[in-house]
Amino acid sequence: MSNTVYNPFESAQQQFDKVAALLELDSGTRELLRQPMQEIHFTIPVKMDDGSTKVFKAFRIRHNDARGPAKGGIRFHPHETADTVRALSMWMTWKCAVVDIPLGGGKGGVICDPQTLSLGEQERLCRGYVRQIFTQLGPNQDVPAPDVMTNAQHMLWMLDEYETITNGRYPAMITGKPVGMGGSLGRREATGYGVVYVLKNLLREMSIPIESTTASLQGFGNVGEYAARMYTKLGGKIIAVSCWNQADAKSYTFRKMDGCDIGQLASIKDSFGGIDKAKALELGYEVLPGEEWIKQEVDILIPAALENQITPAVFPDVSKKVKILCEAANGPTTPDCDPLIRERGITVLPDFLTNAGGVTCSYFEQVQGSMNYFWDIDEVFEKLEFCMTKAFKAVYKLAVEKNLYMRDAAYTIAINRVAEAVKLRGWA
Ligand code: GLU
Repeated sequence: MSNTVYNPFESAQQQFDKVAALLELDSGTRELLRQPMQEIHFTIPVKMDDGSTKVFKAFRIRHNDARGPAKGGIRFHPHETADTVRALSMWMTWKCAVVDIPLGGGKGGVICDPQTLSLGEQERLCRGYVRQIFTQLGPNQDVPAPDVMTNAQHMLWMLDEYETITNGRYPAMITGKPVGMGGSLGRREATGYGVVYVLKNLLREMSIPIESTTASLQGFGNVGEYAARMYTKLGGKIIAVSCWNQADAKSYTFRKMDGCDIGQLASIKDSFGGIDKAKALELGYEVLPGEEWIKQEVDILIPAALENQITPAVFPDVSKKVKILCEAANGPTTPDCDPLIRERGITVLPDFLTNAGGVTCSYFEQVQGSMNYFWDIDEVFEKLEFCMTKAFKAVYKLAVEKNLYMRDAAYTIAINRVAEAVKLRGWA
């Protein structure tokens, strides 16, 4: 095992630098785009249920807003760092650009473990987040959304705090709101479904029927669950699902060789994506160590958890059968692993293209909110599939035409669009 420590921001910069050089971007534009334009680091004092006050560290980082207001989720995670949020804000810029929606890139994070906080404490944390930085948020500035361990209820508390302070109603200030409270139908499913819309298109290009494929999944939060639901609905078979177990403070892989029943697994998971081990055993699942998910003999690997999971240290464990690495998480693969993936002939579906369904539906939520007219669910999914397919096709075509690695093709399209906006505005 290697003990290389990966820094997601350095990874994001390496990925950018590689393509910026290919594109021969001028040095001013490079300098501007390889780092965030604005960072806010702050603390949030929260009154805890026991009467004490706990102070949480938080971030909101705006990478670039040349193409539109900054957009991106807020993560609650005990290991959040400024560099992780920097990287994620940068990936949001490329994500919005590759699907061609008029938004920029931002991200937020709070160092906390929401699994140990009561609902009241979570509410006060959300309200505190907004109270500290509300002048920097807003429909025309920076628009948050849910991300790792945050959900629709958190978004609504944040909106309510913002509207209370500013004395108005600004539904487009935040997305991922509950349906009926300004949220879009399909937002919950959008990231996971979008992943599978992209995968479906790639399989079509490769002339592989989806019903003949098997997959192994890491992460069973919102993205993993809905990707698995759509993939199995289309006939694919998920052999293994790995996820974090809060009580044991480690992850497990749940395996069923004849295919996991995703609805059943979802019915025994907690609100943070942890699957109940005892119940899974009762239902006939094998319970294996967490890292086993990557070793399965499947056609497709779907990392849908956190960054830095596919590294040169674990890559030798990837079965020779694997044909596709379908990145549902943000930053699951480290840059030093990309050459190994390419050498093996595995096709990568790069994260910021593959998981762009969430932000695309967030954009739909803003559009519907501003018309005050909400679409039915079929219309949302139809438009989502259209956008994801169009983005995939452009990336795939460029990769084939120029013999580019798919990640580099996606970066080429995204960086070109953002560089163009920067240039048109006269910023560089
Ligand atoms: N957090 C999601 C992402 O990483 C969605 C962001 C959004 O909807 O703004 O893409």
